[in-house]
Amino acid sequence: MNEPVLVLENVGRVFLQGQEKLMVLDRVDLRLMPGEIVGLLGPSGSGKSTLLQIAGLLEPPTSGTVKITDVDCSKARDAKRTEIRRDKIGFVYQFHHLLPEFSALENVMMPNLISGINKGVARARATELLTRMGLEGRLSHRPAKLSGGEQQRVAIARALANDPVLLLADEPTGNLDEQTAELVFEQFLKAVREENVAALVATHNIELARRMDRVFQVRDHHLIEM
Ligand code: ADP
Ligand code: MG
Repeated sequence: MNEPVLVLENVGRVFLQGQEKLMVLDRVDLRLMPGEIVGLLGPSGSGKSTLLQIAGLLEPPTSGTVKITDVDCSKARDAKRTEIRRDKIGFVYQFHHLLPEFSALENVMMPNLISGINKGVARARATELLTRMGLEGRLSHRPAKLSGGEQQRVAIARALANDPVLLLADEPTGNLDEQTAELVFEQFLKAVREENVAALVATHNIELARRMDRVFQVRDHHLIEM
């Protein structure tokens, strides 16, 4: 099947700040095919996070359509959006947002436990992903006992745990030093390719963006392919 994983059509986003209208996105179109890795470049404040939040059904667009695997989510109810998010989308943020009182393994098991998947299956899947991220020696470590790069690798494994079709990453290595960012990004790309998941990755690092299949820039509220 070769239907797109994500389709944004004519998407606009306006924020109200008091009486003022702040236009962030205007007539944005984007189509992501299965397994495709797409970079989103743009300076701070250009609207990258807003676009990812809309694609991830965390915020509705002011106008336009968001489709995930051909389901029009723009008109979906909250419960349906939550279900699609849980079953089809993985998120990685600049900060790891791991649960501090749980081990790396437990953090990665969590999405599947929440989905009602059997504990043994969740554990096997989490172990596989953490091993793929080079963390087989860190399974029982709590986040505070991990380095920044390791914490981020756990967050990446967690985002892949429920077999998403779409991975949304908002500056996933933005909080790491240059050398660590490079390594973690390499592993991130490798894992995304091995899992054959479509990814939309915001970054302001042009070098990292070049390693993706396609790159767009958010400029003057529009999305421009580079
Ligand atoms: P980026 O991720 O590229 O740095 P953002 O998407 O976070 O950009 O923000 C784009 C613009 O939208 C900024 O001017 C920001 O201040 C504004 N913005 C983002 N979220 C909100 C909000 N909830 N309310 C008002 N303005 C917002
Ligand atoms: Mg941002």
